[in-house]
Amino acid sequence: MNIDTYIPSPLEIINSKELAAMDISLFIKRDDLIHPYYGGNKWRKLKYNLIEMKKQNQSRLLTFGGAFSNHIYACAAAGKYLGFETIGIIRGEECLPLNPTLSFAASCGMKLYYLSRSQYQHKDSTSVTKSLENQFGSFYYLPEGGSNELALEGCKEIVKEIDIHFDYICSACGTGATLAGISSELKTNQKALGFAALKAEGYFEEQLNDFLKLNNDKSKYSIFNDYCFGGYAKINKELIYFMDWFSDTFNVSLDPVYTGKMMFGVFDLIRKGYFPSGSKIIAVHSGGLQGLEGMSSKINQLRVL
Ligand SMILES: *Cc1c(COP(=O)(O)O)cnc(C)c1O
Repeated sequence: MNIDTYIPSPLEIINSKELAAMDISLFIKRDDLIHPYYGGNKWRKLKYNLIEMKKQNQSRLLTFGGAFSNHIYACAAAGKYLGFETIGIIRGEECLPLNPTLSFAASCGMKLYYLSRSQYQHKDSTSVTKSLENQFGSFYYLPEGGSNELALEGCKEIVKEIDIHFDYICSACGTGATLAGISSELKTNQKALGFAALKAEGYFEEQLNDFLKLNNDKSKYSIFNDYCFGGYAKINKELIYFMDWFSDTFNVSLDPVYTGKMMFGVFDLIRKGYFPSGSKIIAVHSGGLQGLEGMSSKINQLRVL
């Protein structure tokens, strides 16, 4: 496979007097730089799935996502650049003109197919899978967000690549697969912190149970539900001001759906004294910057408030 990815992704220190004064070291694992179109944790989750797809001699990938999905975007681009067919099953009605995410996906050659919200709820049922097979022929089935067991293998590599000692590693959570992979690769005394990007108390605990099964060592991770800003893709002025401050100060852009909320949470926890002094913290930049375009008018409205 010709994979032009920036691996291992760079680990950068956040240079901050405020953090230095508290004796906190913060690093950012720049998975957003892995690839301009299929970087971030979506690449981590795709990698072993693409290897498996090839093993199965399958050249058509079918997957699922919302209309602004980073996963749909990444799969479409990977299909174009790595040479396989992609079908995107999109939640909800078709909305024309296509938003920036879907118009990019279509330009990569992804076939887009829409399921109503009620049908989409049953997208993983055998009857829906059968009818998709009748319609499109055989395919490699990748669940929403690319989150399955093989995804965890790729996410473990985020940790394997880190060659410094650290105490905490922080990641945004959408399905929890990335956090599950990361936490399962930690050594004693290391902890993964998950920042929920959506409002669903108890959901991530269940997800981690499902992903990790017998290996679910609950002492290896904690989930924070207080930094989802009211729900999935919900944003407010405080979040946007924080993200603007972060990019002005440290020259790293964050996305409003996942990494902005995670980093907001990391700084809030630091300032509240959650981390003992001397802590070394890694924040995973899981990508998602493509989503900025689709939210730009909403973001700009908040900036002038
Ligand atoms: C999809 C996504 C996540 C969520 O990852 P999960 O493995 O589903 O928890 C986090 N950050 C970004 C930027 C994403 O695109």
